[in-house]
Amino acid sequence: MFAAYLQSFEHYQPLAQRVLLVLNALPTDVQQDFVTDASFTVSLDNYVPGEGSSVFMAAPCDAGISSRSVVLRPRLSNCDESFAHYVIAHEFAHAYLRNGPWNDILDPEEAADALAASWGFSRPVMNMPPYRVE
Ligand SMILES: [Zn+2]
Repeated sequence: MFAAYLQSFEHYQPLAQRVLLVLNALPTDVQQDFVTDASFTVSLDNYVPGEGSSVFMAAPCDAGISSRSVVLRPRLSNCDESFAHYVIAHEFAHAYLRNGPWNDILDPEEAADALAASWGFSRPVMNMPPYRVE
């Protein structure tokens, strides 16, 4: 069901497995929302920065449709597994919420964190890397 979303990552193991693990852990309604929406995409960020502290970035959300493009950094293949799962889930949460609020959580970042946590991917509390998650 998710093979199309993993094509970008086939040369970036274990990132492909990490993405797949998170996708498989999502509630069925969320999975269905993604797979039935052609604007939902998952891709690898091929930009190789000399610096930069973010392990992933959301596509610019100037148009609603682009808010469902999930772009993941190759670095997520190398970092701590639980942190990678959290970041991937957080970004899927943004996509599901279209970078918007969730229930009474109006801040998009807090909403994405809360929704990701509800899926079982809480922000790791230990050994927090110095990444800024957006
Ligand atoms: Zn975020």
